Amino acid sequence: MIKVDNLSKSYGSVTAVAGVSFEISDGEVFGLLGPNGAGKTTIIKMLTTLTKPDGGRCSIDGIDVAADPLEVKRLIGVVPQENNLDRELTAYENLYIYSMFHNVENRADKIDEALKIVGLWERRDSLAHHFSGGMQRRLLLARALLPGPKVLFLDEPSIGLDPQIRRQMWDVIRKTRIEGRTVVLTTHYIEEAEALCGRVGILSKGKLVVLDTPAQLKACVGEYIAEFIDPNGKLIQHICKTREEAHEIAKNLADGVTVRKTNLEDVFIKLTGERIE
Ligand code: ATP
Repeated sequence: MIKVDNLSKSYGSVTAVAGVSFEISDGEVFGLLGPNGAGKTTIIKMLTTLTKPDGGRCSIDGIDVAADPLEVKRLIGVVPQENNLDRELTAYENLYIYSMFHNVENRADKIDEALKIVGLWERRDSLAHHFSGGMQRRLLLARALLPGPKVLFLDEPSIGLDPQIRRQMWDVIRKTRIEGRTVVLTTHYIEEAEALCGRVGILSKGKLVVLDTPAQLKACVGEYIAEFIDPNGKLIQHICKTREEAHEIAKNLADGVTVRKTNLEDVFIKLTGERIE
C-alpha cells in the first residue's frame, strides 16, 4: 500500500504541492490527473525518492520514503517524463546495463521477457536513437519492469505519442499489471486516465481537488451534458443528471445543441473552472 500524508513541496515562492493526502491499495492502477504545473511530477518525484518533501510524509509498503530511500528503490520501477535512455546503445544493451546496476538475477531471461512484454524483442539489437518516440517510451517501460518492481510509476507514459501509438502503449501498460503490480501514473490526457485507471485523483495548483473512480466522478457532477456555441462563439454547457434532462434542456435552448456523456475534463472544469489540456 502507498500512503501519502499531507505532503507538501515548494520551489522558492512556487508552491508545487500543498498538503496532499491519499492512499493507494496493492494492485490498483491509480492516476494523477491535472493541467501543466498542477504538481503531478513533484508528487511522483517525492514518492520515488528523487525529491524530499518540505512537509508531510509518504510510505510504500510501510517503508518511509524519506527515511529509507534505498529500501523503497528496491520496490519501485520508474518511467520518467524525460527520455533518459542511452541513445548510443542498443535496446538490449540499455536493459543489460540497467539490470547490472540493479543486480537483476537471470538477466538474459528477464531482459527477453521485458522486451517481449513491450513488443520490442525483434528490435533488441537496434540503437535506441533509431527508435520512434513510442518505441523509446516502451523501452523505458521495459527497463522499469526489469527488476520486477512491486510498484510502477509512470510519469506521462504516452506524452508526445500520436493517438494510435498511445493506444498501443495503453495495451502494454495493461499487461504490466500482471502479478498484482500497483501502477501509479500521471497524465493530462483525459482518455488515458479513463482508459487505464481504477481511481483518479484530480490535482489543481498543488491541491487534490477530488479522488474517486472515473464513473463516480462523472456521476457526481452529472452524467450528461447539453452544449452549444452561442452567437458570440462562446461554448455554453449544461451538465445534467440524466439523458432525458439533457434532451429536455436541449429542446428548450437553441438549435444546434448537442447532448453527450460527460468526461473527466468536464468534471475538472466543473470543480476548478480550469481546463486540463
Ligand atoms: P506537467 O504536466 O507540465 O508535467 P506537473 O503537474 O507535473 O506539470 P510539476 O512539474 O510538479 O507539475 O510542477 C509543479 C510546479 O512546481 C510548477 O509551477 C513548476 O514550475 C514548479 N517546479 C517543478 N519543479 C521545479 C524545480 N525543480 N524548480 C523550480 N520550480 C519547479
